[in-house]
Amino acid sequence: MDMASRYANLHVSNHPLVAHKLSLLRDRSTEPKRFRELVRELSWLLGYEAMADLTTQPITVETPLEPMAGAELEPKVGLVPVLRAGLGMVDAMLELMPSAEVWHIGLYRDERSLKPVEYYNKLPDAATVQVCLILDPMLATGGSSAATVDILKQWGAARIKQVSLIAAPEGIATLSGAHPDVDIHVAAVDRALNERGYIVPGLGDAGDRQFGTFAGPSSEPGHDPADETAEVVRRLQRNLAGES
Ligand code: URA
Repeated sequence: MDMASRYANLHVSNHPLVAHKLSLLRDRSTEPKRFRELVRELSWLLGYEAMADLTTQPITVETPLEPMAGAELEPKVGLVPVLRAGLGMVDAMLELMPSAEVWHIGLYRDERSLKPVEYYNKLPDAATVQVCLILDPMLATGGSSAATVDILKQWGAARIKQVSLIAAPEGIATLSGAHPDVDIHVAAVDRALNERGYIVPGLGDAGDRQFGTFAGPSSEPGHDPADETAEVVRRLQRNLAGES
C-alpha cells in the first residue's frame, strides 16, 4: 500500500510544477542561491495547497462599480519554522498570508540520539492563532515535528498542519502515530532514512544547502558509526514495518 493510501492525513502534491522544482532542488549542483529560491517557490506552491481547506467569512467589498459579497480568511494563522532549515519557507508563506504570525520554537536534533532538544520557546501563555503551520523542509525522523505539535497543542492551537518538501516514511509514521489529526503536506515521500538519519535519495542537509554551511558539524550527523544514530533509525524502521 502506498503511503498516501495508508495515512489519511498525508497529502502528497501531484502538481507538475512541484515535481519540476523539486528535481532542481535535489540536484547536487544546485548552488545555495538557487536552492533558496527553489525552497521559497516550493513553499509557496505547497502552502497554497495546504491552505485549501481554511474557512472564510463573508465580507462586503466595494468595487469601483458596486458593493459585492466577498470573503476573508477566518482563522488567524501562525507559522512555526523548525530552526534552522524551516526559516527558508517563512517568506513564501508570508507572501501568501501577510497577516500570519511567526512563532519560533527552537528544537535541535541531537545528532547521536536524533531526539529533539528544546532550547528556545517564548510562546505567550494562551494561543494567539487558531491554525499553525509547522514548516520544515525535511520530515526525517518526525521527532522534532511531533515535539513541536505537543508544544502547540499545549499552547491551545486548534488546528495544526505540517508542511515539508520531502518526507521519509519513518517520519510520517512517527508524526501520524503521535498526532493523527495533523495534516502533512509534502512534495514527495522518499524511500527511507539512512543509518545517519538522512532522507534518501533526499537532497542532503537542507540547512547547509540553503545557508552554504558545508564545513560545520551538522554536515556529518551521526559521523561516529558506533553512536546511537543507526540504532534509532533501525527502531523507527521496525516501528514502520510493524504498522504494515
Ligand atoms: N535533515 C536534512 O536536512 N536532511 C535530511 O536528509 C534529514 C534531515
